[in-house]
Amino acid sequence: MSPGSESAPTIAVIGGGQLARMMAEPAAALGIPLRLLAEAPGVSASQVIPDHLVGDYTDLATLHRVVSGCRVVTFDHEHVPTDHLHALAADGVAVRPGPEALVHAQDKLVMRAAVDRLGIPQPRHREVADVADVADFGFPCVLKTARGGYDGKGVWFVGTPDECGPAFEVAARTGVRILAEERVDFDRELSALVARSPSGQAAAYPVVQSTQRDGICAEVVAPAPGLDPAHAAQAQELALRIARDLDVTGILAVELFETADGVLVNELAMRPHNTGHWTQDGAVTSQFENHLRAVLDLPLGSPLARAPWTVMVNILGGPADSGGRLYDGYPHALARDPRLRVHLYGKEPRPGRKVGHVNAYGDDLQDCLERARHAAAWFAGDLGDESE
Ligand code: ADP
Repeated sequence: MSPGSESAPTIAVIGGGQLARMMAEPAAALGIPLRLLAEAPGVSASQVIPDHLVGDYTDLATLHRVVSGCRVVTFDHEHVPTDHLHALAADGVAVRPGPEALVHAQDKLVMRAAVDRLGIPQPRHREVADVADVADFGFPCVLKTARGGYDGKGVWFVGTPDECGPAFEVAARTGVRILAEERVDFDRELSALVARSPSGQAAAYPVVQSTQRDGICAEVVAPAPGLDPAHAAQAQELALRIARDLDVTGILAVELFETADGVLVNELAMRPHNTGHWTQDGAVTSQFENHLRAVLDLPLGSPLARAPWTVMVNILGGPADSGGRLYDGYPHALARDPRLRVHLYGKEPRPGRKVGHVNAYGDDLQDCLERARHAAAWFAGDLGDESE
């Protein structure tokens, strides 16, 4: 090491999914070593992060082993038990985001209480212990497990008392608490993404439109087409306010419902988020790079768009006989669209599983939509043998 130079600190990343995998790209570019805790051998991120351990993130001894020698620990998911995060922090590792912040992404009841405290608009809601409580709250509504849900799992749209059974069965089996929310008649779903560093620097990305299918994010358009500038400003401001007030470090994604009256908070994520994948190719600094910069308290990069439009479409695994193709899909997809950007996660396709995404950017929204949708459908095998 030359005099005056300091070697880059290692960041520990808990969780071996595609989000950790996609942190590896900017980490390599910036020369920042990552050390990974993967949940199983061969998972998505462990294929590209050589310094990895396989183990259980609910086991404190394993977590200690992974973070040993690391300056910072961050996450691919939000499931590490809060007590373990406190224990790591007590040992002098910077936990980013910290346990007090992260609990708002882990527990929807805690999140709803914080958003109320901040006076930020959100759906009417209350905790419910049984069907009588739900009837009192009013049908139709949405029941959600306070913890442990993702991609629409742990969410039930209920119109009658009979339909509440599955939610309370889960509650009885797991002890999880249940939240009832008014069913919002939204025009569309938006997402406001911000990066925030421990010293308080923050960067807000353009507000995007996200489309869900079966509770899973299917498509993102950046920026949200035709978004009222007042709604865009409201969304960015509330995301920045939540990030500051909850002392979030790294990326915060605020999922929103847009209605005629403005935006309502649906939920928070404190890690790079599917609605921010467009930034890899469509923004000056990707969400993954800004997450790494933020957790190391380095200056953040510009969140501004590089092109008027970027469209991200997820590639989902189809049924076994759907003819899905991943690497096999390259010759056609890459030849058809030399500006297409493809991101595959190294995962075995299973029905409905996110196995990759594509980004298409350009000056014309319809063209970007057509290119990205075509490519994603091609990889998923939804186009049959069509080669146009
Ligand atoms: P998850 O934790 O699985 O992401 P969400 O709370 O984001 O669950 O809900 C999944 C999807 O269900 C949302 O993206 C939205 O489309 C729909 N949804 C959730 N809450 C409501 C609500 N209160 N009103 C209407 N639709 C909702």
